[in-house]
Formats: sequence, structure tokens, C-alpha cells
Amino acid sequence: QKEASTSSSDDGTSRPLPKGVVLGPDGKPCRTCTSSASWKAMMGQAATTITSKPKPQSQCPPDVEELGRSTWTLLHTITANYPTTPSLQQQSETKTFLSLFGKMYPCWVCADDFRSWMSSYGNEPRVSSREEFGRWMCEAHNAVNVKLGKREFDCGRWEERWRTGWRD
Ligand code: FAD
Repeated sequence: QKEASTSSSDDGTSRPLPKGVVLGPDGKPCRTCTSSASWKAMMGQAATTITSKPKPQSQCPPDVEELGRSTWTLLHTITANYPTTPSLQQQSETKTFLSLFGKMYPCWVCADDFRSWMSSYGNEPRVSSREEFGRWMCEAHNAVNVKLGKREFDCGRWEERWRTGWRD
């Protein structure tokens, strides 16, 4: 179970956590794994004991959604700028990048599921052309959309969204 109902505080006691707060490997709430709504709910609880000046949202560390949006922008833009006919070395480096990305993505629950999706039959990275890689990334993103209950994106239009702009 990735979501936790309690967190351990420094004095060793357990405290109930709002729904949606995900703990990191250190047992503390993981900001990059948690939505801002759940984080705010948790901080609201803490505000009964800690009084702090509110900071503008844009100056705060990213939550799971902001990190995700920025990361998808980077990933799709990489595919949009990928060669139409990449060399074998470029294909190999791209696979290495995806493998390391799957280990280093800071939302660990997202990274676990992404690695597991990539390793399941039919979902191995396809990087032999820009078109193939762009579609594969779109499918990877759709797998997360489905997991989160969001609408799937039409992968026939990935290039309009991320490279050429929308056709009128
Ligand atoms: P996003 O999903 O961030 O999409 C940004 C834009 O991309 C959209 O506005 C749309 O124009 C376009 N788009 C949408 N779908 C596609 C597609 N299939 N192909 C091309 N373009 C598309 N969040 C969690 O809460 N739990 C997770 O387990 C989780 N796993 C993630 C794994 C990875 C690898 C990444 C990068 C992010 C993950 N996220 C996860 C974050 C999540 O995917 C979203 O980024 C976040 O919820 C914000 O969603 P959004 O609705 O703003 O749009």
C-alpha cells in the first residue's frame, strides 16, 4: 500500500494523515508524490502547532502534479526533437535515458509504476524513429492518465500537440 494513513513524528508517535498523502522511503510525507490538495490538508493540521507565513505557490517545491506536467513537457518535447532516423547509438542512449529516468524520477510511486509499465509485454521503449518514439511516449502518458482516471489522449495527434502546433 503506497498511501499511508499515519506518519511517524520525531518523538516516535503516530499521527493520522489526510487521504492522498504518500510517504517516502524515509517514512516522511513525500511532497513530490502527493497532490497539493492533500499536502495543504496535512499542513492545515500542522498549522495548529506551527505558525508560518504563507508563501506564494510559484515559490514552493513542486507537488506531484506540477512535477508531472513539467516532466511530460520535457519528455514529449524530447520526442518532438528526436531524429526521424536515429543512429543505433542514439537509440541505445535513448533507452538508457528512459531506464535511468525510471529509477531517478523523484515521485517514487510514479517511478515504480512507470518502470513496471515499461517492462510489461508490448510496452518496451520503441525508439527507432521520431514517429515511433512520439507514439510510444503518448502511450506511456496515457497509461498514467488511465491510472488516474483521466481521459486518454488521441495519440494520432501527439505531433500536433508537441511539435507542429494544431491544424486549423
Ligand atoms: P498532464 O497529464 O501533466 O499532461 C500535460 C499535457 O499533456 C496535457 O494538458 C495534454 O495537453 C498533454 N497530454 C495528456 N496526455 C497526453 C498523452 N497521452 N500524450 C501526449 N500528450 C498528452 N501522478 C500521480 O498522481 N500518480 C502517478 O502515479 C503519476 N505517475 C507519473 C509518472 C510519470 C512518468 C510522470 C511524468 C508523471 C506522473 N504523474 C503521476 C503526474 C501526472 O501524469 C500528471 O502530470 C499530473 O496529474 C498533472 O496532470 P494534468 O492533468 O495537469 O496534465
